[in-house]
Amino acid sequence: MRAPLDVVALTQALLRADSVTPARGAVFDVLEAALAPIGFTIDRVVTGDAPDGPVENLIALREGTGAHLAFAGHVDVVPPGDGWQGSPWSGDIRGPLLYGRGAVDMKGAVAAFVAAAARASGPTLSLLITGDEEGPATYGTPVLIERLAALGITPDLCLVGEPTSVRQLGDMVKIGRRGSVNIWIEVPGRQGHVAYPHLADNPAGKLARALAALEDMALDQGNAWFQPSNLEITNIAIGNPAHNVIPAKATARLNIRFNDEQRGADLIDRVRAVVHTHAPAAIVTGKASGEAFLTPPGPWTAMVSAAIEAQTGLVPELSTSGGTSDARFLSKLCPTVEFGLLNATMHQVDEAVAIADLETLTTIYADIITRAA
Ligand SMILES: [Zn+2]
Repeated sequence: MRAPLDVVALTQALLRADSVTPARGAVFDVLEAALAPIGFTIDRVVTGDAPDGPVENLIALREGTGAHLAFAGHVDVVPPGDGWQGSPWSGDIRGPLLYGRGAVDMKGAVAAFVAAAARASGPTLSLLITGDEEGPATYGTPVLIERLAALGITPDLCLVGEPTSVRQLGDMVKIGRRGSVNIWIEVPGRQGHVAYPHLADNPAGKLARALAALEDMALDQGNAWFQPSNLEITNIAIGNPAHNVIPAKATARLNIRFNDEQRGADLIDRVRAVVHTHAPAAIVTGKASGEAFLTPPGPWTAMVSAAIEAQTGLVPELSTSGGTSDARFLSKLCPTVEFGLLNATMHQVDEAVAIADLETLTTIYADIITRAA
């Protein structure tokens, strides 16, 4: 099989390979068939066990001169859901749009970068493509990063092709993302009869007071690039079916989206301290799924912005909005910027990309490659 290097045809070929997370196999075959003829050496790594794996990851490398520009992305997709006009794996074109699960998030951008690499040369180029971005990300980008380290390869610049554009292709670039931490609180009590409270210990009020104090807490003021960190209560449970029983325990769960002034582990400690002032016996555990990162505006962000402006006339907004992405891992290696297609239909039924945007994104990526040399 030899995939065509026309960006539309390559996007269609990628869309026709069902690749719900964890992805492996056919969708990577399409990618390898497109990359090998344009000078890339391909390293495919399958790793992990069920249920999160096995996952396939791919590193493609083409030596050039000067800087090493890495393009990072994923070819796994979220499940299509019901109600599509056609098959979510059809790659059908209707009017100006190409439909399919992953069209904008983000097989279209992967295809655009491959097509751009066929047109433009100069820097050393790599593609770091995972099959585990939409899932737990256990065997995805972290595995790619370990593999790069083992090969002794460190990129100088990283471009992540997530769909960052909002209303028009090129209107927004992401230069950072907030971090995310989940925290679980369990307040133990002693079950008993509501008429005999002296023989029991009710955890409900302690939890309520702790949660009220947490909601009142200002985590920080935000800064030039980030909004203030924000705590949300996502669940409260006592699970007591009886009206005459003091419950044995009360639990809650929180999520904090935090800026680059915070670290996940510190936030867990801070929440634990507040909870313990109201409920000293409470058990507080947490898990940070990603730390915040920021690539401060500089030569790399300017280069990406200049290429976008040259090809579209738009000066992109530099933003740190939205959820987490794999850029949180890659930003530890080198300056990392995210730029890709319109995000309006991502994860939705009838996800679609404008054919014209695929062509324009290819010219922007080619311009970025040329500038990075
Ligand atoms: Zn994505």
